[in-house]
Amino acid sequence: MSLRIHFHLVTIFPEIFASYFSSSILKRAQAAGHIAISTYDLRDWSRDKHRKVDDSPYGGGAGMVMKVEPFDRCVAAIKKKITRGSQKSPQRLVRVILLSAKGKRYTQRDVKRLSGYQHLVLLSGRYEGVDERVAKYVADEELSIGDFVLTGGEVPTMAIVDSVARLVPGVLQNAESLQRESHREYGFLEHPQYTKPEVYQKWKVPKVLLSGDHAKVEEWRQQKSKTE
Ligand code: SAM
Repeated sequence: MSLRIHFHLVTIFPEIFASYFSSSILKRAQAAGHIAISTYDLRDWSRDKHRKVDDSPYGGGAGMVMKVEPFDRCVAAIKKKITRGSQKSPQRLVRVILLSAKGKRYTQRDVKRLSGYQHLVLLSGRYEGVDERVAKYVADEELSIGDFVLTGGEVPTMAIVDSVARLVPGVLQNAESLQRESHREYGFLEHPQYTKPEVYQKWKVPKVLLSGDHAKVEEWRQQKSKTE
């Protein structure tokens, strides 16, 4: 089994990821060697004796801004490790993504696109955000998971790892679920799903699903699937 995607997560709070990635499907995917996840403490790339990675914003204003140097050094070290012994150019092998509330909105199209890389480096900001030179010179792109502001890039990072990992062959035990699910193609939304019991609190499962008539069930599902 050859490793399909290696995720490299850069953060000042590496411990945040431990619980999510050591449970369920993503735990199995790592154990089976389909994906690998490495975390990097950004402070290890600070040259400050107090391991500082932020400073006050030029021009004044509230809060602190994360500095460019630790991100740049950390990404350079990751890229060096990745490209050692590889014939491919880093452009085809690695994609560096900065999580940012002002980035391009992340969609299922991006999930598919990103699943084509062997290495994804995900940079989490904190505080008031990240020195713009990280977006401009260190990252290949800036992605937002929605039009709202979180305290850090760790939850968006987990969302990206989770959504991309699902597309790696072997990660989902039932790959058929990828065929019909929401956002499979632009605007497509899956049909409603039901399971036992047939009736709960007078709330009934649609009769057609109990009919055993596969053609009718399929027709109903197609009708109920929506295109936004
Ligand atoms: N001052 C920034 C702004 O107005 O855009 C928000 C900074 S936010 C408090 C700190 C960090 O959380 C960001 O640098 C980014 O990494 C992450 N973050 C917050 N919201 C996000 C979102 N919707 N998508 C992706 N990352 C987000």
